[in-house]
Amino acid sequence: MENYQELVQKQKSFFRSGKTKETAFRKQALTTIKEYMTSHQQDIIDAVKADLNKPEEETNRAEIGLVLAEIDFMLENLDTWSATQEVPTPKTHGEAKSFIQPEPYGSTLVISPWNYPVQLAVAPLVGAIAAGNTAVLKPSELTPNTSSLLAGMINENFKEEYIHVVEGEVETSTALLKENFDYIFFTGSTGVGRIVAEAAAKTLTPTTLELGGKSPAIVHKDADLDQAAARIAGGKFMNAGQTCVAPDYVLAHSDVKEALMQKIKEVKTNTYGDVVPADTYPHVVSGKHFDRLKNFLDNGELYMGGRTDKENLFIEPTLLDQITWEDDVMQDEIFGPILPVLTFDEVSEAVEAVMDRPKPLALYLFTKDEEVQNDVFTNISFGGGAINDTINHMTTHYLPFGGVGNSGMGAYHGKASFDTFTHFKSVLKR
Ligand code: NAD
Repeated sequence: MENYQELVQKQKSFFRSGKTKETAFRKQALTTIKEYMTSHQQDIIDAVKADLNKPEEETNRAEIGLVLAEIDFMLENLDTWSATQEVPTPKTHGEAKSFIQPEPYGSTLVISPWNYPVQLAVAPLVGAIAAGNTAVLKPSELTPNTSSLLAGMINENFKEEYIHVVEGEVETSTALLKENFDYIFFTGSTGVGRIVAEAAAKTLTPTTLELGGKSPAIVHKDADLDQAAARIAGGKFMNAGQTCVAPDYVLAHSDVKEALMQKIKEVKTNTYGDVVPADTYPHVVSGKHFDRLKNFLDNGELYMGGRTDKENLFIEPTLLDQITWEDDVMQDEIFGPILPVLTFDEVSEAVEAVMDRPKPLALYLFTKDEEVQNDVFTNISFGGGAINDTINHMTTHYLPFGGVGNSGMGAYHGKASFDTFTHFKSVLKR
């Protein structure tokens, strides 16, 4: 196992030099990343295609476009957010003045997953840099082409004492987690999140944990079913269901279940054709995940899809009917293009069923009824979500993105990213 003590020491010394506290220096770093991503757009598309068979349009939107928008937002606001703010002082404190002084934590560690291998590595890094930290990034070993591209982008353009990419597998993460970073930002599974939290507890290092979970899409009987079908299928089947905020399962009112499933099937046919082509649809990331997902195809009754091809790590967008909470597919996050459908008769039943389980990362509700919207969104705790849509709550930098409970802690995107990587120091001056 490698020892990263020297790297972290170098970053700590560089941080102490005060250079990263200069906002012009941070802006220059963000601009360098922006320019690299813009001028290497095709390389990024090719790397993500080689790793996941992700279509160009999806990489442009969800990997490159989103990160560039995040960088622009930081460049626009960084000066304001970094400035010390004066706040009122109670009369009891006499003539004193009070300030909130934002300061970067120092040396940060970002560990990222494979499913959006550019976005989920670079977006947190952008937050760390904007807030004035140094950073070590450990991308996922399951997307080696993208990880190596990220290593090139960072290690050829920045000194290792400022920002550095370390490629490697679990042992690399384990070794990095032994170091005394000032902040850890982890995106990945709930199980590994626990390992990261335990490691961070030893040094009392603050962490953000962006984890997963089973995110429901609840479809009430008054929902616009064409809209619900299109948006659920869109959110679920993009990237072969390997999206942390993809609807994991559908809870449909029993009056509309049949019609909804029929419409999802139509959306699938209109989007991909009668037979989904294995060569253009995104791959499942590995043989291990393929085998895990394939086992779910025996659950309930197959309503749509179900074709698989191990050689191409291909699983067709699939809809499973007659599913119960006891089925294997309902025990853990699916993270693949398989959508089970369950039913409810009363909204309270759906609310109770979701609340009986760990808090989801996302929740989607399709209904026009504002009382139902209120009821569901007030009673159920979840990371974030959408009414009459899926996924898009995470693509705006005005909404903090993160989980709660088993789906994570802390949030990022836009101002929330800056705040996550910043300690707000309170100062009273007399
Ligand atoms: P993962 O937890 O297996 O791996 C994530 C990262 O942790 C990788 O870099 C990996 O090398 C490292 N890692 C793996 N095992 C480790 C260990 N024992 N000790 C230390 N580090 C370890 O997750 P994944 O399979 O890459 O990604 C899928 C999961 O991530 C899903 O659960 C998904 O919901 C979640 N996810 C969450 C978000 C979010 O923003 N909340 C986004 C994407 C994915």
